[in-house]
Amino acid sequence: MRIPVIPISYADAKPFLAALEGPIAPPHWSGSLPITYHVGPGKARVHLEVVSDWSLKTIYDVVAFLRGDQQPDHWILRGNHHDAWVFGAWDPLAGQVALMAEAKAFGALAQQGWKPKRTLVYTSWDAEEPGLIGSTEWAETHAGELQKKAVLYVNSDTNGRGFLNAGGSHALQRLVNEVASKIKDPETNATIQERLRAKLIIDGEEKDAKKEKKKNAELAEKGGDLPISALGSGSDFTPFLQHLGIATLSLEYGGEDQDYGIYHSAYDSYDHYLRFGDPKFVYGITLAETIGHTLLQVAESDVLPFQFTDFAETIDRYLVDLHTLCDETREETQKQAKFLDSGAYVLAADPEKHLLPPERKTEVPSIDLTPLSESLKNLKKSASSYDAALHRAQENGFSSIRAEQIAALNQLLQGIEQTLLSGDGLPGREWFRHLIYAPGMNTGYDVKTLPGIREAIEARQWNEAIQYVGRTAACLDAYRDRIDKATSMLEDSAGK
Ligand SMILES: [Zn+2]
Repeated sequence: MRIPVIPISYADAKPFLAALEGPIAPPHWSGSLPITYHVGPGKARVHLEVVSDWSLKTIYDVVAFLRGDQQPDHWILRGNHHDAWVFGAWDPLAGQVALMAEAKAFGALAQQGWKPKRTLVYTSWDAEEPGLIGSTEWAETHAGELQKKAVLYVNSDTNGRGFLNAGGSHALQRLVNEVASKIKDPETNATIQERLRAKLIIDGEEKDAKKEKKKNAELAEKGGDLPISALGSGSDFTPFLQHLGIATLSLEYGGEDQDYGIYHSAYDSYDHYLRFGDPKFVYGITLAETIGHTLLQVAESDVLPFQFTDFAETIDRYLVDLHTLCDETREETQKQAKFLDSGAYVLAADPEKHLLPPERKTEVPSIDLTPLSESLKNLKKSASSYDAALHRAQENGFSSIRAEQIAALNQLLQGIEQTLLSGDGLPGREWFRHLIYAPGMNTGYDVKTLPGIREAIEARQWNEAIQYVGRTAACLDAYRDRIDKATSMLEDSAGK
């Protein structure tokens, strides 16, 4: 079933909501208008006329290159959108000004004769708000070239006071932590990493803290690298990560700002941002420093800064989640069958409401996740071998490795994220091809990890789930294969 949808203002919505009759809506279905919310139906008949402007508009992406002088064909991309629903002081300009500050700094370096080793590509997207159009069109038009050349895409969108909010490809978790351990929080003088660590630990103590918060607190307390989150959608990183399989980061600050209620409205103004966003304009500078240093590290490092154990350990957590999901789905189904058989639903229901018992759910077959665990086991081994080999080579300053070997190694690493794409994409939406991260089918911007399997289980499509266990395992094998080749390059040359 497809139901037409149109967003309207609360002033326009009020007469519709007020005309509804029937039972009073439960509290979590009620909004804040000064009426009693009912769930309907009602006697009112409505004639709704929608006037839409379907004229075509030209959109403008701004794309600027600063050519690398050693590996010009390896591109490090940076983007933020520049279009807004109305004034857009928060969304997108708070992120856009940081991007401009970085570009200005790189420009100043270039004027002094500096050149990055790899090429920096600064992009400012149009038409993000109506559906990521500017970035998607550009990414699709240059798909082949991007898959051959892009090493990393770094996105921001809005920004404000608070903590570093980092998400993206987990092989870049080490890089994010390295940068975060060197940049100062502008209001406390602690490093960004120290502040975030304290916050994650404290948040994990909240009484109703969810599983993920508790896990993050546990990782933070261990004292090592802080976890970065997985990316769903909602900004311009989507075509790069989910369609082209380019390693991606989203970096922003927030959490101590107050943007509640003004998002995507005419109240997202300069005045509001000045009062509630980043009153001293210091987190804009911090974002520019954070992303600027991230790009510099990737542009200048001898070997691209990926650490694969972080990725493997993250997949391990996602796999544990999948096991839990399978178990819970099975338990729930068995419980329902028991209550249906015993007649409990019928007996417990209010006879005056004439409610039917729920429809019987199909039995959950055994979903064998072994192929995935096997692939993951091998991946973990390969990842730690690579990370150790890289560490050894780094300590020798790569002195034992020939320049051509390093170039070949970087070539292997450049497209490694693309091995996580499935040619057929995800069921019912083949444009989304990444088998580790995707926005959920029904969760808006929110991410689903190992989405081919997870969403199939949630939709009780058992055959599809089994099929995607195989496909996802094959992707992990291809990723591991690439890592093994990279390791042997590091070791071969080190042995010579
Ligand atoms: Zn935005």
